[in-house]
Amino acid sequence: MKYYILFGPPGAGKGTHAGALAQKYNLKHISTGELLRAEIAAGTELGREAKSLIDKGALVPDSVVEGMIETAFDTIKNVEGFLLDGFPRNLSQASDLDAILAKRGEEVTAVVALMISDETIRTRIKGRAIIEGRADDASDETISNRIKTYHAQTEPLIEYYKKAGKYYECNADLGTIEDNRNRVLALVESIGK
Ligand code: AMP
Repeated sequence: MKYYILFGPPGAGKGTHAGALAQKYNLKHISTGELLRAEIAAGTELGREAKSLIDKGALVPDSVVEGMIETAFDTIKNVEGFLLDGFPRNLSQASDLDAILAKRGEEVTAVVALMISDETIRTRIKGRAIIEGRADDASDETISNRIKTYHAQTEPLIEYYKKAGKYYECNADLGTIEDNRNRVLALVESIGK
C-alpha cells in the first residue's frame, strides 16, 4: 500500500487537488478536517468537543485524529493506498503514524508539500469562507491562530520528513488552480523515479 501525506498550510489547496491525485493513483483521500466537520454536523459528542478547538484555530487532541486514521486504515479496502490530508499536524502525530504503519509492516511513501505564503493563506481562506461557509474560515483571529499553529506545530514536520528522505515540495502560490494541479501531479509522478 502507498501512504502519501498531502502537506501544507491551510489554504494551500490540499483539498482542491486531492481528488485528482486520489483518482489517478486509486488512493482513498482522508481529510481529518472533513471527518471532524462531519462529526460536528452529526452532533456527536466528539464533534461537540472538537468544535470549540476548531473554532479557535487550535488542534484537537492527537488521540482523536489518530483514532480516525486507524479506523480508516482498518475499514477501507479496494484501494492502492491512502492520501492523508491534514494529518499528521505535529511531531507526535508524525511519530505515532510511523508506529501505526510499522505495526502493519508499512511506512509513509512520500510527503507531497504545497507551499504558499502567509499572505496567500489569508486571501485564500477568506475567499473560501464565502464559498464554503466554514466557521473557522470566517474570523481574522481564527485565521491568525491557524497560521501560528501551522508555523509552531506543523512546519517542524518538514525537517522530520526531509531527514527521512521522504519530502517533496512544490510551489502552490502562483498561477491558476489548474497550473497548481499540474505541478502537484507532476511532482507525484516524479517520486521514486
Ligand atoms: P483542515 O480542514 O485540515 O484545515 O482542519 C480544520 C481544523 O480541524 C484544524 O484547524 C484543526 O482544528 C482540526 N484538525 C484537522 N486535522 C487535525 C489534526 N491532524 N490534528 C489536530 N487537529 C486537526
